[in-house]
Amino acid sequence: MLNIDLHIHTIASGHAYIHLNELINYAKDNKMSIVGINDHGTKISGKHIIPHFGMAFRCPKFENLKILWGCEANIIDEEGNIDLMNPYLSKLDYLSIGIHPPWPKVDDQLCAILNCFKKHKPLFMTHPYIKLNIPDVSKLYQLACEHDVILELNLSVLTNPRLKKETLVNIKKMIEIVKKNKKKLIINSDAHFLHEVGDDSILERYYADLGLTPEIIINNYPEELLKRLKK
Ligand SMILES: [Zn+2]
Ligand SMILES: [Zn+2]
Repeated sequence: MLNIDLHIHTIASGHAYIHLNELINYAKDNKMSIVGINDHGTKISGKHIIPHFGMAFRCPKFENLKILWGCEANIIDEEGNIDLMNPYLSKLDYLSIGIHPPWPKVDDQLCAILNCFKKHKPLFMTHPYIKLNIPDVSKLYQLACEHDVILELNLSVLTNPRLKKETLVNIKKMIEIVKKNKKKLIINSDAHFLHEVGDDSILERYYADLGLTPEIIINNYPEELLKRLKK
């Protein structure tokens, strides 16, 4: 079980089925220490519940469980703009960015992502090996390391029955580059259902093969992770 899981979708995403109160109870029952609500930005599947992102300040606080309010924003253009604006953006505890349909109409995805890194300084990039159109993903991983954006090992990608060999190859590349740059990656569930929250049992199968080692996993360093949240 992950102690920290910063990629959890709630009903606010429009296609996930987790309610905040049941998440809180589940995380407490499983002795998790930090959970991150990471609902999609506004351009996914016609979702328009922007005020959700302004509710962080009213979220309950607990002694042994920290609840963080984030967003999995979509990059929408080559300038690296995303589908969440201020004042909501500045109210988040952290920002993660990803590429999802509707596909950004950009000639150069890598350039769009780099511009987004520079403009928005996201804490992490979600599943940076699916839904991409980049000839050499190694360049993306190197740029993320240089701009101090944490790369994500996404557990829902690993549990997907349609997981492609090519995706595994790219995940291994990502881990190699993270190690070479002496950086850390984050492991998240990308839960859309309650039973997926924090569930890392799939790693038993992949841990050694992917070249994972404890010192490159930021989930093992909660203080360091908390320091990196948006001020
Ligand atoms: Zn995603
Ligand atoms: Zn997600």
